[in-house]
Amino acid sequence: MMKDCIFCKIALGEIHTEFLYEDEYVVAFNDIHPVKPVHVLVIPKNHIAEFIAVEDTTLYQHLFTAVKKIIGEKELQTKGYRIIVNGGGAQDVDHLHVHVMGPVSPSNHE
Ligand code: 5GP
Ligand code: ZN
Repeated sequence: MMKDCIFCKIALGEIHTEFLYEDEYVVAFNDIHPVKPVHVLVIPKNHIAEFIAVEDTTLYQHLFTAVKKIIGEKELQTKGYRIIVNGGGAQDVDHLHVHVMGPVSPSNHE
């Protein structure tokens, strides 16, 4: 738990948020400002500042398992999906999060 980290508070249930997926490593929930009809964030339960700070590579399995489940549950397999991780200063929130978005069309990559 990192003090004043909004995503730690969400992961710990201190800010009530519906989880679309949860396992021992990660949780997934809707982005508060969706930029696509589906816009889900997958985060580690532990505070990890950003992508390059991941040390336990088991976390990759859990993050991508959650991403696949969201794609399936939201039926994005055939509608187009986009997976984004901002880091290195491009991120607004300093707790690793994977954006899963859709539907997305080809060449709609702005
Ligand atoms: P970043 O720019 O860091 O990659 O993305 C941060 C994302 O977190 C943004 O899409 C923003 O809408 C989302 N976000 C920020 N604060 C909250 C919050 O309190 N709850 C939820 N559900 N999403 C948030
Ligand atoms: Zn955190």
